Amino acid sequence: MLDLIARSHCLACDCASSAVLCPDCAPDLDGPLRSLPTRHTLLACAVALGAYTGAIGALVRRAKFQTDTRAARLLCTSLNDALASGVPTLPDVVVPVPTTPWRLAARGFHLPDQLAAVASPHFGAPVARLLRRRWGLAQGGRGYAARLAAGDQLFAIAGPVAGHVLLVDDVVTSGATLHAAAAELLAAGASSVSSLVLGAAGPLRRVRVGVS
Ligand SMILES: [Zn+2]
Repeated sequence: MLDLIARSHCLACDCASSAVLCPDCAPDLDGPLRSLPTRHTLLACAVALGAYTGAIGALVRRAKFQTDTRAARLLCTSLNDALASGVPTLPDVVVPVPTTPWRLAARGFHLPDQLAAVASPHFGAPVARLLRRRWGLAQGGRGYAARLAAGDQLFAIAGPVAGHVLLVDDVVTSGATLHAAAAELLAAGASSVSSLVLGAAGPLRRVRVGVS
């Protein structure tokens, strides 16, 4: 549907383009889902739509920092298309990684919430907001990494936890946020935790999809 809207610039790289995404950017969102290494992590399975560099990163930044709902819709559509060809794991519940209430109020939407809603039907698992954010990047006078390294809890549990949890976030860079969320969920009773993100900053491998 978005392709029907005439545009003069690519939504990701801003080059002159009559399509929403130019021919250089469009393949970045085409999937299939890629698996991320999970050795030395708490995650049973981790997948990404693609690399954080390129069009995915540009669209995520546009959606988050410019509150661009067209970019958010395009990302949701791409994730939906990738999941339509098969799912890499079978969670019992889909949990968006939360942001802080003040950031949600400032932006009016939270991309991981939208992604979780898109993903939920493909997994046949409901969305549940089982996590609450305790603090944000700028709080407390110490850096994010320093606070996590010191054992500060980034998340609190916000509901009953059981079974296999799929965490959904927009991007993964160091993996520290997903790791912190997985630790809380496992401590609260999750049997296993997996993750699904749009863009990953690390190496990606193609994943075999179609769990049955
Ligand atoms: Zn482009």
